[in-house]
Amino acid sequence: MSRSAHPAGPRHADVLPEGHQLPVPDDLNVLDPKVWSATTERRADGVAAVGGIDVRDLAARFGTPLYVMDEDDLRARCRDWRAAFHNEEIDADVFYAGKAFLCRALVRWIADEGLNLDVCSGGELAVALSAGMDPARIGFHGNNKSTAEIERAVEVGVGRIIVDSFEEITRVAFAAERRGVTQKVMIRVTVGVEAHTHEFIATAHEDQKFGMSVADGTAAEAVRRIIKLSHLELLGLHSHIGSQIFDTSGFEVSARRVVGLLAQIRDEHGVQLPEIDLGGGLGIAYTGADDPKTPADIARELTAIVRRECDVADLRVPRLSVEPGRAIVGPSTFTLYEVGTVKPLPGLRTYVSVDGGMSDNIRTALYDAEYSVALVSRVSDAEPMLARVVGKHCESGDIVVRDAYLPADVTAGDLVAVPATGAYCRSMASNYNHVARPAVVAVKDGNARVIVRRETEEDLLRLDVG
Ligand SMILES: *Cc1c(COP(=O)(O)O)cnc(C)c1O
Repeated sequence: MSRSAHPAGPRHADVLPEGHQLPVPDDLNVLDPKVWSATTERRADGVAAVGGIDVRDLAARFGTPLYVMDEDDLRARCRDWRAAFHNEEIDADVFYAGKAFLCRALVRWIADEGLNLDVCSGGELAVALSAGMDPARIGFHGNNKSTAEIERAVEVGVGRIIVDSFEEITRVAFAAERRGVTQKVMIRVTVGVEAHTHEFIATAHEDQKFGMSVADGTAAEAVRRIIKLSHLELLGLHSHIGSQIFDTSGFEVSARRVVGLLAQIRDEHGVQLPEIDLGGGLGIAYTGADDPKTPADIARELTAIVRRECDVADLRVPRLSVEPGRAIVGPSTFTLYEVGTVKPLPGLRTYVSVDGGMSDNIRTALYDAEYSVALVSRVSDAEPMLARVVGKHCESGDIVVRDAYLPADVTAGDLVAVPATGAYCRSMASNYNHVARPAVVAVKDGNARVIVRRETEEDLLRLDVG
């Protein structure tokens, strides 16, 4: 059992020591397929392209910064997850976690590819419904859903509400009763496992706002209450242990505790709940050093874990669902920036300022997340230079890529791109410094279309009633 690690890896020292871990790449012009979306390529003229479109054309047509989403990559990932969890051996459901990134085009794509959808607010629900998502395929999460959100969810008939507190059990039951319907619910349980990156910790108590504890009996009490309420149907138990996880050992502990509770419920109430959901959190490659598992491996390992635990507890194997967010949308997208200034600090590093920053990618500042970056508007034979890619905000923590090598001749007007920004970048974007949020453009087969348009100055002023 290992110690806790930071969600996005250890913080680097301010100045990389001699012989630091960041390896100097052999060839800065190579776009590592580990971190770039499937159709991203370096063309013969040295310019990068994605979905058959030159990045210079994208910048010229849509401006920078720009989130560029590779639709083929995204759809292929949806299909891989679906196929991994839904085949001759495994019959499980994949819910895409909408909080990673949500817009109407994306909702249609994931629905098309056979995925269900998780939302965790009334706003996310509204986007899903507006895109025509079948409410029966939606799961509604959140530790403090408002009464209005619950009413709406029950009204439209969402497939499952994942209840997170005693108050919410009452609220959902009341909303269902008033409408004379039976609402399916799952209980979000905390299993005392917290997973970040490569490591997880298992503790006796859970010091966090989500869920109801298995260890202290709160979850079992929630079961007792729900079973008594005729307008609620208890589908099963739900556990989500963390994010950017690279191995299944945390899921193993979580599955054991969830299945343990299923057995306790069977013994106490004489019923076996039909479903369990093990949540999301599967990691992706942000840099060449990350090695995520394939969906097929994850599916095999998770189902093996659940089967084994059920065997031990002498339970029928429940229907399983999982909720990847980052793993589906993260690798599909890169952020395209234009370089504005280059400041060499002798003996330290070179600061490369781009035209976005913490408003379009807060993850570096918030989680010490690591990213990679490449010069994409041309190739270069210049020496590798230790760079820090920073934004344009009035804040020294406004870092996009803390440590990366760029060619030493990188200069104003160059386009650089940061891969793997599809998850938790646009969805967490802000208007800090009254910077307008970038557009999201989807590319496929030589076509590009805006799926979320760029904000304008007018948008920024719209809410300011003066
Ligand atoms: C955030 C979240 C997810 C998705 O996490 P990823 O790291 O994006 O896979 C899934 N389920 C729940 C309940 C979540 O809160």
